[in-house]
Amino acid sequence: MTEQEKYLEENLAKVRARMEDAARRAGRSPQEILLCAASKTQSVETVRLASRLNIDLFGENHVQELVEKYDAGAYNGKPAHMIGHLQTNKVKQVVGRAALVHSVDSPRLMAALEKEAAKKGLCQDILIEVNIGEEASKSGVAEEELWALAEDTQQTPHLRLRGLMAIPPVNQDDAENRRQLQRMYRLFCSLAEKHYPGSQVDILSMGMSGDYENAILEGATIVRVGTAIFGARAYPAGV
Ligand SMILES: *Cc1c(COP(=O)(O)O)cnc(C)c1O
Repeated sequence: MTEQEKYLEENLAKVRARMEDAARRAGRSPQEILLCAASKTQSVETVRLASRLNIDLFGENHVQELVEKYDAGAYNGKPAHMIGHLQTNKVKQVVGRAALVHSVDSPRLMAALEKEAAKKGLCQDILIEVNIGEEASKSGVAEEELWALAEDTQQTPHLRLRGLMAIPPVNQDDAENRRQLQRMYRLFCSLAEKHYPGSQVDILSMGMSGDYENAILEGATIVRVGTAIFGARAYPAGV
């Protein structure tokens, strides 16, 4: 076993143990919660290594990285999800590769995804991203805009709405973090209760290295963990 493999394995054991503990505290089965490895900036080789370990799926932020790693077979057949902000002109490269798009946040993007999925004759699973902290710097729809966008999915036969995603604000106290995550869970339940035709609302994607345990306590079904698995990211100069 290489040093890197050992490092990843040890990190994953810790993350999995904490996930299980949080699930137990919440009275949930650990099997209900999937671990998405947020692999932005990680190389094809690193992702290939990680794909043999205890990770359920991978999440990419940049279309170029998704394409590169997917086409190289780095995910080893495990699902790859698009978790970063997606530009309309890049949907071509995403539909057919990403099993789930977490970051749908505009009617325009939804229309582009529908068009591409129809063209390729497949059904694209999507989440709507909610800007739960109402931060100007973050993408995602405001809570008030969520319902109109969700209703639009009734007019997109090649998109299947699976639930919601959020990136709650960081650097705040634990109680405030829990409140934001709770608000997401309530929105998720309200969305599921709408029973929109063609939808299957069963995924709530929230929680990162700093708050995945809280997210599990508050009902997340996918946590997206980067740093706690791979270590601190080394960004190329200028990024
Ligand atoms: C980078 C990223 C993560 C993981 O963040 P860490 O703090 O490194 O765990 C999760 N979700 C999204 C959308 C990200 O961009």
